Amino acid sequence: MPTLLIDGKWVSATGGQSIDVINPCDAKAYASLDRGTDADVDLAVKAARRAMDGAWGRLTATERGRILVKAGELILKHGDAIAEIEARDTGKPMSVARADVVAVARYFEFYGGAADKHHGEQLPYLSGYNVQVVREPHGVAGLIIPWNYPAQMFGRTVAPALAAGNACVLKPSEDACMSGLKLAELMMEAGLPAGALNLVTGYGYEAGAALTSHPDINYMSFTGSPEVGTMVQEATAKNAVPCALELGGKSPQIVFEDADLDKALPIIVKAITQNAGQTCSAGSRLLVHESIYDTFVGRVAEAFKKVKVGTPEMDFDCGPIVNKKQFDRVNGFIDEAIKTGVPLLAQATIAQGCSKDGYFVAPALFGAVPRDHRLACKEVFGPVLAAMPFKDEEDAVHLANATEYGLVSGVWTENGGRQARMAKRIQTGQVFINCYGAGGGVELPFGGMKRSGHGREKGFMALEEFSTIKTIVLHHG
Ligand code: NAD
Repeated sequence: MPTLLIDGKWVSATGGQSIDVINPCDAKAYASLDRGTDADVDLAVKAARRAMDGAWGRLTATERGRILVKAGELILKHGDAIAEIEARDTGKPMSVARADVVAVARYFEFYGGAADKHHGEQLPYLSGYNVQVVREPHGVAGLIIPWNYPAQMFGRTVAPALAAGNACVLKPSEDACMSGLKLAELMMEAGLPAGALNLVTGYGYEAGAALTSHPDINYMSFTGSPEVGTMVQEATAKNAVPCALELGGKSPQIVFEDADLDKALPIIVKAITQNAGQTCSAGSRLLVHESIYDTFVGRVAEAFKKVKVGTPEMDFDCGPIVNKKQFDRVNGFIDEAIKTGVPLLAQATIAQGCSKDGYFVAPALFGAVPRDHRLACKEVFGPVLAAMPFKDEEDAVHLANATEYGLVSGVWTENGGRQARMAKRIQTGQVFINCYGAGGGVELPFGGMKRSGHGREKGFMALEEFSTIKTIVLHHG
């Protein structure tokens, strides 16, 4: 089956080439994707432009919302099928894939309902004037998403972009995007006019680069690595196209001596092991007050040893790493830490029956990691937790802010004053206190500071991002 959706039809790439889809549990190819290139991206952008100027652009916000709500219903109806596709593509446990599908449906419900509640205002001005400030879609929006939560990323970008009235060209990741094909099919079934959503599968350096530098896109939303994000921003800057970047993280979990440790423990372990650590907001640094460091980190080590890695069907705590390149990168971090003498405090187990060819990595806990070690500063994007002690509140703030990232943080303390001070001083886009949402729900604005990017997704903020402002001044005398 062709995998490019252009102008409401599934078509093959003009170049006729394909990309193998690999099952991360056994490294075997089980399907193929069309390898879209610049010619396909151009056709997709033209189709989106026609939709903007045609049937899609003429719909009212309420009509757009209805289509999205209907899409949400269809997603839930086909939930089991989508979850199976997602689990096979990424290797994640079946129960997690099912929960992901519910989250995708939620994006469509939320933004379907919000579409006609996002509006402008009337301003008081000079006598004889009527001034309206209205919100309009940017026009054609380019969306580039990664492989770690392919279905959720589809919902997180496509739903608000369409709710705000944009026509979209989506370039999903070549490493995992099979669920996106099914989701796009359901969008058409929900009544989305042709060209409102176009999907081009292909490599980042081909289809992705062609989309970011296309002169007829009006907005770019990119989720992925800081390295590629910088290239995307450079490319869009050449055409003065606004660009939102959702990039990586090295998020700290900060545990003070007065914390409810029983509550914190399972949440801290899950925040780095879920999705095999391949979560932008994974809690990958564990900062613990020195007075409880040994005992608490010891408890985390015991919990780590009980974590189990397996196939989707085994449905344990996490699955494999998504591809060979990332598998080598994660193992590289673990090997380097061991070689440089960082104590490996605990490692989880890979279940019997997992293929030796699969990209399985046993989650690892290291500590005390020197503050200037690569493991303390750089994103692994795998199930590796770096524990470090801190002296006092000042030191905790310093350490929490000591990386180039600023996506999410978790603070564990019962002291109200300290909760407020920490929330104010930590440089991250989200701060969780005595909980950890790993990005949080659909309602919560999400995005980074520093090299974790800029722009906000989720909540009503996403509708602001995906729209622009027009001021209309009428002199009526
Ligand atoms: P990546 O940057 O390699 O790829 C992301 C997407 O960009 C893919 O679709 C890829 O094909 C495309 N791409 C690659 N090169 C491109 C180019 N030159 N021009 C245009 N597009 C290009 O990232 P990844 O490995 O897929 O994902 C992992 C990274 O994503 C991690 O750093 C992670 O933290 C980050 N991430 C961030 C968030 C967030 O919301 N902040 C969410 C998920 C993942």
